[in-house]
Amino acid sequence: MTETTENITAEKKAVFPQEKMENSGPVPENQTQVNTESYQLNNLTPFAESIIQVSGEKLNNCYQCGKCTAGCPITYAMDILPHHIIKMVQLGMEEKVLTSKTIWLCAACETCGTRCPNEIMLSPIMDALRQRALNSKYKNKIGEKATAVFHREFLSSIKSHGRVYELMMMAMSIMKSGNLINFILKFEWVSYLKLLFAVLPKGKMSLFPHNIKKKKEFKNIFKKLNNAQKV
Ligand code: SF4
Ligand code: SF4
Repeated sequence: MTETTENITAEKKAVFPQEKMENSGPVPENQTQVNTESYQLNNLTPFAESIIQVSGEKLNNCYQCGKCTAGCPITYAMDILPHHIIKMVQLGMEEKVLTSKTIWLCAACETCGTRCPNEIMLSPIMDALRQRALNSKYKNKIGEKATAVFHREFLSSIKSHGRVYELMMMAMSIMKSGNLINFILKFEWVSYLKLLFAVLPKGKMSLFPHNIKKKKEFKNIFKKLNNAQKV
């Protein structure tokens, strides 16, 4: 073990003393060191209970083995490791979780779920956390604003049409992400235009929205989800 690795491992052991270090590996420099020692996990916090209810995942069964994190392909970009997110949800650390980049960077690949000895799928948990973040008092402190805008526009398109209307979704995402000036001045629109000319003739995208027949059923799903989020 190099001197640097030893230092990082010693530092991490101080933060997560009971953690099985062999599964987690060293913490990259860009990731938050979270001190959970001051928290006691006796019962589930209301935050954890609501995330379990919305996601349907029994995250209270997590015993921090770290196998999910060891297999996650996105940890290099995350500010909090996936198994730490689970621990922090259990402990009710709402602000840190809802303002993290991690919940927006999860690619829903489900590698973690296939590795977990307790069959906990992290992607529905991340979904529930994203939705919670958008409806919470931390909605102005979201860790990945552009991704959050894209997420909201995607859902809004599904809600309106029952399927994605890509052209409007892209336009609204660019306008609302606060990147419009760069988009124009740095000629980013050129690559979008090329994409459009490539996909429109092939019918991969449409200039106009196509609605599904049972749009109302979709709206009911959204209504139920919103009600669950308010619990
Ligand atoms: S693999 Fe499962 S039990 Fe292990 S830390 Fe991840 S969520 Fe928890
Ligand atoms: S679903 Fe998300 S947290 Fe799980 S391995 Fe994939 S990117 Fe990582």
